[in-house]
Amino acid sequence: MIKSLKVLQNPLANSSYQLDILEHSPTHKHASFKDKVAATGMFPLLAGGVDIFQVNMGKMCNQVCKHCHVDAGPDRKEIMTRETMQLCLNVLANSPIKIVDLTGGAPELNPDFRWFVEQIKALGKHIIVRCNLTIILANKRFHDLPEFFKLHQIEVVSSLPSFTQDRTDKQRGDGVFEDSIKALQMLNAVGYGMQDTGLTLNLVYNPAGAFLPPSQDALEKEYKFELMKKYNISFNSLFAITNMPISRYLDYLLTTGNYDKYMDKLIAAFNPAAVANVMCRNTISVGWDGFLYDCDFNQMLDLKVTPATSQHLADFDLSLLQNREIILKQHCYGCTAGAGSSCGGAVAE
Ligand code: SF4
Ligand code: SF4
Repeated sequence: MIKSLKVLQNPLANSSYQLDILEHSPTHKHASFKDKVAATGMFPLLAGGVDIFQVNMGKMCNQVCKHCHVDAGPDRKEIMTRETMQLCLNVLANSPIKIVDLTGGAPELNPDFRWFVEQIKALGKHIIVRCNLTIILANKRFHDLPEFFKLHQIEVVSSLPSFTQDRTDKQRGDGVFEDSIKALQMLNAVGYGMQDTGLTLNLVYNPAGAFLPPSQDALEKEYKFELMKKYNISFNSLFAITNMPISRYLDYLLTTGNYDKYMDKLIAAFNPAAVANVMCRNTISVGWDGFLYDCDFNQMLDLKVTPATSQHLADFDLSLLQNREIILKQHCYGCTAGAGSSCGGAVAE
């Protein structure tokens, strides 16, 4: 199993080093993202509210995917404590935010995951869990996760970069495809992704190399056809997500000599229509230690929300956060290329 950049002591584990590469490419001058946004008349980019409270429960994961923007893996020990979860619950209890999106790492690996879910549900919120699928098979104690998700009417979002074994395993590790298929069948068996159950199962595609995702609609049709034909698997929607040029994907781009070409592709595909719908405009992202970020990508680059508002759960102030200025850097091109990209897939026509 490969190790995280952090454990390998790779310089890219340092967010300042990543930002330096992104802002000052060693070989090429890339147009500034802020200037592109300014040309649309939307700079400074402001949040338009906080509809989604996305919680990164920690960097621990049973997988070590090649393109992981979290640099997650079994060797990462940073996870959210119950005290920090309680701070999340205090915020949620006192705000109209309706959607809580749990991510990681593998959020289910946090020993307080189920407790946290139960407390959030008691507040009447809708929960999304970003489940990597293989966690369900990783240990006997996770085998009942499909039933647990069903009990709490959780929306499940799961990555499956391809409907073929070789492409999935190449990106996510040996044996991941087989376990993912078994996990999807277990989710289907309790009603996830099946018609009229109200149990939503969405899949996520991201490209295997230095290219942009193809049409989300066309890909969804292909996935639905192939997964049903070969494995009798159903799901609701497919989200096509662009790889962000940070962390392990940035490492891939640099080591394969694709960095400048990839940035040029993102910049050439800049879609002004996607700017209005980037996910930071309606989301707040919470780190495992309670700090606040505009999105999970900014979180991994240690770019906290503007100091003009609250930067930690302990002094969360929705009135300031809901129209805060978003911190934009060059990686943001990943959200505005082509049809745009977010945790919910494409954001523009
Ligand atoms: S992409 Fe997801 S499943 Fe893969 S290592 Fe990162 S957090 Fe884990
Ligand atoms: S990377 Fe984050 S801050 Fe930048 S545009 Fe995307 S969602 Fe917004």
